[in-house]
Amino acid sequence: MATARTRRERTAEQITADDRAHVFHPWAAQDLIAPLAVAGAQGSYFWDHDANRYLDFSSGLVFTNLGYQHPAVVAAVQEQAARLATFAPGFAVEARSQAARLIAERTPGELNRILFTNGGAEAVENAVRLARLHTGRHKVLSAYRSYHGATGTAINLTGDPRRWPSDQGTAGAVRFWAPFPYRSPFHSDSAEQECERALQHLDDTLAFEGPSTIAALILETIPGTAGIMVPPAGYLAGVRELCDRHGIVFILDEVMTGFGRTGAWFAADHFGVVPDLLTFAKGVNSGYVPLGGVAISEEIAATFGRRPYPGGLTYSGHPLACAAAVATIEVMSAQDVVGRARRIGAEVIGPGLRALAERHPSVGEVRGLGAFWAVELVRDRASRDPLVPYNATGTAAAPMARFTSACRERGLWPFVHMNRTHVVPPCTVTEAEVKEGLAVLDEALAVTD
Ligand code: PLP
Repeated sequence: MATARTRRERTAEQITADDRAHVFHPWAAQDLIAPLAVAGAQGSYFWDHDANRYLDFSSGLVFTNLGYQHPAVVAAVQEQAARLATFAPGFAVEARSQAARLIAERTPGELNRILFTNGGAEAVENAVRLARLHTGRHKVLSAYRSYHGATGTAINLTGDPRRWPSDQGTAGAVRFWAPFPYRSPFHSDSAEQECERALQHLDDTLAFEGPSTIAALILETIPGTAGIMVPPAGYLAGVRELCDRHGIVFILDEVMTGFGRTGAWFAADHFGVVPDLLTFAKGVNSGYVPLGGVAISEEIAATFGRRPYPGGLTYSGHPLACAAAVATIEVMSAQDVVGRARRIGAEVIGPGLRALAERHPSVGEVRGLGAFWAVELVRDRASRDPLVPYNATGTAAAPMARFTSACRERGLWPFVHMNRTHVVPPCTVTEAEVKEGLAVLDEALAVTD
């Protein structure tokens, strides 16, 4: 009698067919993910069941700051699983207390109290709730061209109308334009003037809405999904000043930029700005087990010493996730992974991408910091017209599709979104790996030009 194949013996084709039949993939219609049966991963690479290996310039979804399967993190998770795999929040669990201390020691300023969640969107939900309860106000301001997650409030704060169809109309979400010198609504090529005009626009928005009705303003320190737009000098300090003037809670969303990604523990460190609340997830434990959270100022935390906070998630601060965070942060500290990301960005990735920009007319702009870069692809450099017109779904249209295929055929997994490819390898990526990836990008751009 023929025995049924075990799960591990199934072919890549069978795994993929099963997957498409039974897993609901949010992005399937957009062709953003390939039907690839992933078998394993290590460091900067992953491979499929057909033994194709890919250099991952997407870090998963920008979360493997320490690379895949770091032995110290794997060992920490295994050890924790054997000892105390899970326990309810509210109890003191060593891994949780230790993770909170290590995180608080690295956040800017005095953001010393950590509220744990299971990921980035939940962190944003809780930051907004903390701000509303603290101020007794309701409105929240967020920027166009931002991404804050896919849950109710978070998706409403996300400044991309294509993401709103199911959630239009949540009361209190107000959007404004943050600076983006490359394609600016303020029509300026001068970063200084851009900053000035953006702050004036924000001031006008506050005046129009009535500052005393606004609980919070949330910004990604460096917007990631929308294209790694490093803000001009002085902008975040200016926003901080406006928030202080009107008693508005300033939230920096560092879900993507936290934990070494930009060559600093947090991107806020580059700008010398301290928010009242800071959200994190992804890199906190290199994405091993879902974890996120909010780092809270002493002043806001004190509000809830006197009254209860209506929150509490069954799995938040999960011991396995926290053990992974402790191991990740300890390895990053011991090996100066943050400094390494800063250097590889300044010395290898940045210069390499700028050299590609000189050779390929389809590269409009290159920008970034650390292991966090975007390459803007254009049809026409002078007009800065996108290579592919924006459409409603973000479907990968030719020639972006040609670019993506050319990378994948050559063993590079790029993070392509709209008219950009993001170069976001693990912070541990080596110089040789970056050069391998840049060589593939060079060939793929030749197909795209
Ligand atoms: N905030 C930012 C800045 C993000 O980039 C993301 C995810 O990409 C989120 C929030 C949502 O995080 P999660 O997908 O873990 O809910």
